[in-house]
Amino acid sequence: MIDNTKIKYLSVHDASPKFQKELEIIFDKLKKIKIKNKSIAVVPNWGFKWDIRKYPKFIRLMRKKQKEGWELVLHGYSHSNPKHIPWYNLFFGIEDGWEFYNLNYNETKELALKGLKIFEEVFGHKPKGFIAPNWRLSEKGYKAIKDLGFEYTTSLRHIKWFNKKWENIPVFFKCISGYSLPNKVLNLFNNITIKQTKVRLVIHPHDKI
Ligand SMILES: [Zn+2]
Repeated sequence: MIDNTKIKYLSVHDASPKFQKELEIIFDKLKKIKIKNKSIAVVPNWGFKWDIRKYPKFIRLMRKKQKEGWELVLHGYSHSNPKHIPWYNLFFGIEDGWEFYNLNYNETKELALKGLKIFEEVFGHKPKGFIAPNWRLSEKGYKAIKDLGFEYTTSLRHIKWFNKKWENIPVFFKCISGYSLPNKVLNLFNNITIKQTKVRLVIHPHDKI
């Protein structure tokens, strides 16, 4: 495990009722870690079939975490890929999250709004942060997210505060599972990233922690 003092931001991704069991295990394991900046990336309607409004148990878990100091951020809408990149979907599955990467300004705004509407309905407030699945936003997408009133978004290597400069805080993936080529590349990237003084640690439901 990475030295806790190196972690500036801790984020648990892909919070969806689909991963209820995994999320409970992750939060249980993270209980003892003391990090001030903690966030949970909520997916309002994973795969177009896991609408969080229908899952009170999930909502209860999120509210409990909020009370414990976790910030809830919006993580796309469905975390699913558009149909026009079939080669990618074939290899990685439709839910692997390039949801926003090549959308234009209006498309980004429209899709983020769909997620925002559910988030606000469930949690009664607007999230400060928007994280695109796989951290992929187009240039126009950044502007759309800013114009929707979010305070920040993130890329793979930065946090973009809309009223400040880019903050260079690379992301570190913990224990990427599997041995596929993309994961090997990510692990290589991790080994470089871990040498930085401060990182963001991101944990996904399929990670082995
Ligand atoms: Zn994600």
